[in-house]
Amino acid sequence: MKTSTIQNCPYIDHKTANFCCIIVAAGQGTRFGSGVSKQFLPFGAGNVLTTTLAGFLSHAQCQEVIVVIRPDDRKFVSKLMAIHFETDLGKIRLVDGGSERAQSVEHGLNAITNETLPFVLIHDAARPGLSNQVIDDLLCALSNHDGAAPALPVVDALKRHVEGAIENVDRTGLYRIQTPQAFRLSQIKGLYGAETSAAVDDFELAQRAGLSLKLTNGAERLAKITYPDDLKRVERLMIEDVQMIYRTGTGYDVHAFEAGSTLQLCGVEIPHSQKLKGHSDADVGWHALTDAILGAIGDGDIGDHFPPSDPQWKDAASSVFLKHAASLVQARRGKIVNLDITLICEAPKIKPHRQAMRQTTADLLQLELDQVSIKATTTEGLGFEGRREGIAAQAAVSIALPDK
Ligand code: MG
Repeated sequence: MKTSTIQNCPYIDHKTANFCCIIVAAGQGTRFGSGVSKQFLPFGAGNVLTTTLAGFLSHAQCQEVIVVIRPDDRKFVSKLMAIHFETDLGKIRLVDGGSERAQSVEHGLNAITNETLPFVLIHDAARPGLSNQVIDDLLCALSNHDGAAPALPVVDALKRHVEGAIENVDRTGLYRIQTPQAFRLSQIKGLYGAETSAAVDDFELAQRAGLSLKLTNGAERLAKITYPDDLKRVERLMIEDVQMIYRTGTGYDVHAFEAGSTLQLCGVEIPHSQKLKGHSDADVGWHALTDAILGAIGDGDIGDHFPPSDPQWKDAASSVFLKHAASLVQARRGKIVNLDITLICEAPKIKPHRQAMRQTTADLLQLELDQVSIKATTTEGLGFEGRREGIAAQAAVSIALPDK
């Protein structure tokens, strides 16, 4: 079972979209007994399904992902997609599944909008450990085969129980087949619609039709989540595999005082003889932090995402801006490592509110308290802060992103 090298593969350039995916997530997974289908169990930064989906979306050549679900799950899954895939939402489509896996795959195939795409990858939602390497190997195999599936050689000794006796089974040449399984879109579509329910998977269907098939390198981390222990084991294998890179961003903001009685600083309302002037709630600390996060991921600034000229952001809560920036980090499968905000003003006194500000910021970004620092300083009476004309804030943030 040899895999061709990427350099020799006409179908891999990590730029041009040439495949769509079908994720079968319509099962109820009763073996966990938790009442929650296993594709929705917490995993990584989200759950099993969002991790599986992120695996496909992180591949540059993936154009569309069709998630086949139970009709009852539609509302929940729609919400899940909106939370986890804000920037890639246009690539995701939800399709109602059937009572059997084969029906669900068929519904998925029929829902593919771009029929000119050459390839389709069909995958089980309960295998979250997908990597770009596995996808590359499959695409590569399609340059001279009709279909491909990742496979792992059987390493344990095999025995068969026959009428009370134990027989030895020769494991030479035996493989465990995983998903995703990759095909030419037109070919696999042609095979569905006929009698399909007896096939274990799409690979078997293709085998029966006499297509030329190839086994590519499978991976232990691609194991199917079947029992509760699998969750932790696969999670651990995935963490070991991912190389993280670290990015830093900085932000700076100023807002002037005007007549008022309270002001908003790092999510906390503080009574004061003046308020901060601004189009939104003028939370100068969270504005600087939002800019720092956007800076770390190289995605413009707060004004690009929320133009002050747009009336819909008038009096907006700055939590909206900050949550949006955090969702962009999450969409890149990144994590905020720590953040540090400095508020620069003579008044109000920050110290009495500092813990509340840290807690509010940590809660909003789902961080531990020790990842959030908020400090304050004066300018010894110098400059506009010293003249009590307004408040300045600066922020620095460190973000960990998976290395592509
Ligand atoms: Mg501002």
